[in-house]
Amino acid sequence: MKLILPSVCLVPLLLACKQPTPNSDEQALAFEDSLTSGSQIGLQPMEVALTLDDGPAPESLPLAKKLRDLEIPVSYFMIGVNIQSHPQVTREIAELKFTTGAMAGKPATIIANHSWDHKRKNSEIACIACDGTEYANMEITKTDALIRGYVTQANKPFFFRAPGGNFFRRDVPEEVKSLNEINKDLSKYIGPFFWDVSGDVEPVCLKESAEKCGDYYMGQIRRKGRSHGLIILAHDIHEKTRTMLLGDGKYPGIIAQMKREGFKFVHLDKYPAALSKFGNVPRNEFGEISFKANRVADKTYNFDVKVKGASKIEVFIDRLQQPLFSGAGNTLQSKQAITTGGQRIFVIKGFDASKKQIAQGSRSIDLPY
Ligand SMILES: [Zn+2]
Repeated sequence: MKLILPSVCLVPLLLACKQPTPNSDEQALAFEDSLTSGSQIGLQPMEVALTLDDGPAPESLPLAKKLRDLEIPVSYFMIGVNIQSHPQVTREIAELKFTTGAMAGKPATIIANHSWDHKRKNSEIACIACDGTEYANMEITKTDALIRGYVTQANKPFFFRAPGGNFFRRDVPEEVKSLNEINKDLSKYIGPFFWDVSGDVEPVCLKESAEKCGDYYMGQIRRKGRSHGLIILAHDIHEKTRTMLLGDGKYPGIIAQMKREGFKFVHLDKYPAALSKFGNVPRNEFGEISFKANRVADKTYNFDVKVKGASKIEVFIDRLQQPLFSGAGNTLQSKQAITTGGQRIFVIKGFDASKKQIAQGSRSIDLPY
């Protein structure tokens, strides 16, 4: 997964536009919360599903075996070009079965589709649909041809996650509907999957030690995992992430910490009835929201937001963990410089006087370049 840099809100205008504070694990990931996550596939409080993306790499296999020995089910969202480079690693990971515990004899892993090369033309930010629906179809079907042998038997599901979780060009359900129309075979897929907890490719982890990164993960896991189940995202191709997961002597790693604190590791398909068909993305939307954006100058927009009954409104863009703007009351106006065009997704949250969230919605707007 490539990190989406905060490319907006760099020029504070009418309202103070706070710079994100590092290690802000008190902030919800607004965009992710609104799409397929642990609670939406039926995971119960204290249940966690571990997903490892962007592999496989040669180092993926020893980690996979250790996780299997610890009785941790893992879903691997793999990239086609890496499967092609490491077919034996892929096969061995795919065939891992638990040898101990209640799950002995059952598959320890699920192999899933995470695009062909995790790239897009002319951009550092990965995105499945930015180069068009046909291109997205090619990305998914090329990888499908490689993983098919590992997922057709024994009712294993076909899972999909977009690179970086990004669709961008259009709203996710719209884009996936088009994909289903041009390729009926894709209807066997479930997803797109998002996640509740992540961070190993964000600055908080890139700049800090494996232990600090683990603390960041544990902060999110403790805060969110007691009220609903969690999909956890990490990238096993990175050495620091592998250390964060399993520790290194002095540092126990987050798997041991989660086990000690009573979190239960489950497979991503533990509750098949709750899994959405491909494109049927559940939207965690509620409350009454009105959201308008008007261009007032080059790369400058006036936003007009209303949330019925709110005492405070927050508006996020894409994956920014801090609001793009926020303010008291049920109506909020703000002028913002947005320097990057294209499809941008705004998430609006409303809170009542007791700080309880009473509204959430996402709106996508195609801004000119
Ligand atoms: Zn990725």
